[in-house]
Amino acid sequence: MGKADLHMHSTFSDGYQTVGDIVAHVERATDLDVIAITDHDCIDGALLARDLVTQQRLRTQVIVGVEVSTADGHLLALAIETLIPAGLSMDETIAAVHEQGGVAVAAHPLSRWCPSASIETLTSLTNLPDGLEVYNASFAGIGSNSKVRMLNAMRFCRAELGGSDAHTLKAIGSGYITFDGSTAEDVLNAIRACATVAYGKQWPRREIARLTYRKVRSHLPTPRSVTRRVIKPQTIN
Ligand SMILES: [Zn+2]
Ligand SMILES: [Zn+2]
Repeated sequence: MGKADLHMHSTFSDGYQTVGDIVAHVERATDLDVIAITDHDCIDGALLARDLVTQQRLRTQVIVGVEVSTADGHLLALAIETLIPAGLSMDETIAAVHEQGGVAVAAHPLSRWCPSASIETLTSLTNLPDGLEVYNASFAGIGSNSKVRMLNAMRFCRAELGGSDAHTLKAIGSGYITFDGSTAEDVLNAIRACATVAYGKQWPRREIARLTYRKVRSHLPTPRSVTRRVIKPQTIN
């Protein structure tokens, strides 16, 4: 039985950890067989991770992924080679993933904490995602994980995904899936066959507090922007 965590971020987007550190940590300190680095609207870190595991002949396998900011919420695009632009509808984005032969997974659906597919979006899709993230170990899953798991079992019947959404090394593997086999190809086949099982436990509280602080801080005015606002009227006068 293989184990995979297919949702995490590096310094190529808003993660704290470099791609090199992620790959080294997964190889030495976890029992994950497969990972996907899924930076926000950036594929470069994922491509680098795949190159690193090949060059270093590591046991860890890497699926190239990205977390696309669709107009209807975040979508994980896995096993793609070309970046899919942000801002398309979720329906269009799923079609674009499938055109590349990739796998599409709705990230943290129904989450109220970050842009996520609503139930209306999920029920209106003509291009269905291959999977739903029924367990997201970050703050994004708080209040929605159990609802999504139940809805998926009773209504959507897509492959269930568990992802850490890690932004730090410690959080990697806090959400994961198991599947028959142990390779990247095996896990992709298992998702397509709806034969995955999702597990997880929430990030340590300290990690949640750290990232929440960072997100809040990024929306506060910087001293420079405050100065500009104060100085501007004087300049006009
Ligand atoms: Zn997200
Ligand atoms: Zn994410």
